[in-house]
Amino acid sequence: MIDKIPFNKPYFAGKEVQNIVNAAYYGHLSGNGAFTKMCHYFFEDRWGYEKTYLTTSCTDAFEMAALLMDLKEGDEVIMPSFTFVSTTSPFILRGAKIVFADSLPNHPNMDMDKVEALITDKTKVLLVMHYGGVAVDMDKAVALAKKHNLILMEDVAHAIDAYYKGKPLGTFGDFAAFSFHETKNVSSGEGGLLAVNNKNYIDKADIIWDKGTNRAAFERGEVDQYEWVGTGASYMPSDMIAGMLYAQLENIEEIQKKRIKIWERYYENLKVLEEKGLAKVPHLPDYATNNGHLFYLLLKDKKQRDSLIKFMDKNHIMTVFHYLPLHNSPYYKDKHDGRPLPNAQRFADTIIRLPFFYELPLMVVDMISDKIKDFFK
Ligand SMILES: *Cc1c(COP(=O)(O)O)cnc(C)c1O
Repeated sequence: MIDKIPFNKPYFAGKEVQNIVNAAYYGHLSGNGAFTKMCHYFFEDRWGYEKTYLTTSCTDAFEMAALLMDLKEGDEVIMPSFTFVSTTSPFILRGAKIVFADSLPNHPNMDMDKVEALITDKTKVLLVMHYGGVAVDMDKAVALAKKHNLILMEDVAHAIDAYYKGKPLGTFGDFAAFSFHETKNVSSGEGGLLAVNNKNYIDKADIIWDKGTNRAAFERGEVDQYEWVGTGASYMPSDMIAGMLYAQLENIEEIQKKRIKIWERYYENLKVLEEKGLAKVPHLPDYATNNGHLFYLLLKDKKQRDSLIKFMDKNHIMTVFHYLPLHNSPYYKDKHDGRPLPNAQRFADTIIRLPFFYELPLMVVDMISDKIKDFFK
């Protein structure tokens, strides 16, 4: 019997279960316990985010940000079409209108040169997503946000430990949302984190994160009782989840080293396909780094891509394609303004993502690469 090579496999650093047990043993099972604070400190100290909040998912980090922005019915949010639905849905829940932007010709990231034409007097937010941990052109994003007085937010679900001209992704925007879903480099099963870099939002973020109370101010000794002071929600995970996450964060260097090795091996093996004009390997701009989040190929067209997925499946290797562009989704199709977004559509049609996880042996990367080359023979 041959087992399939999976697309993803959750990684365990070793101390996860011990941390979960410890969180329980300390008797602080609810949110914002010792492990939560250690996770916050890790992000703030290592990468320089101003203030961080663990959340139960990246989607929830977006919801929290959308609440903080105080969006009104009809406010417009510009974001890429080629992204995951979590980037979008929290803003729709607040009544915002989504204006989708196209991808670059040579990378799924948003084409920043096409964004200014989409800005109207209703535009309130510019949201960028760093696909595969590869930086969007942040000089352009920051300049546009400043010029038009927009809130800048970064979807860094793929982009932990990734940089633009040496500066960590997620430090450019007023807000940034991380994911610790099991498919991400660092995981707690489900989980997320909201980084708030703009100090003006921090007091309100403390309140929203904790169900609309001023408990944070109470814990700092600034008020003598904690009360209901605003609207909020329950976005904090249990400290056991934070314990699991912390075990992974402590191993971040190991994780990144290994994942980058896997990425480079795929790249070395498969770049010959690009040289021969058969398929394209990922493009990495000078200003970006590679954080080993995912590896993909771009095929000639949808038919060829679909048949490669089938071929790999027959050879017991699981591959996937996504995203499907959001402007064409059943939910948004009729709400979109009708502009074609040809690059986003082309990436959706031609992309294939290859198995990628910490424990994937380089020998298996070679085997997968050989199978792909067989397909083109
Ligand atoms: C995974 C992912 C999300 C959502 O993450 P959850 O933690 O599952 O809510 C959002 N955006 C992108 C780009 C993602 O890949």
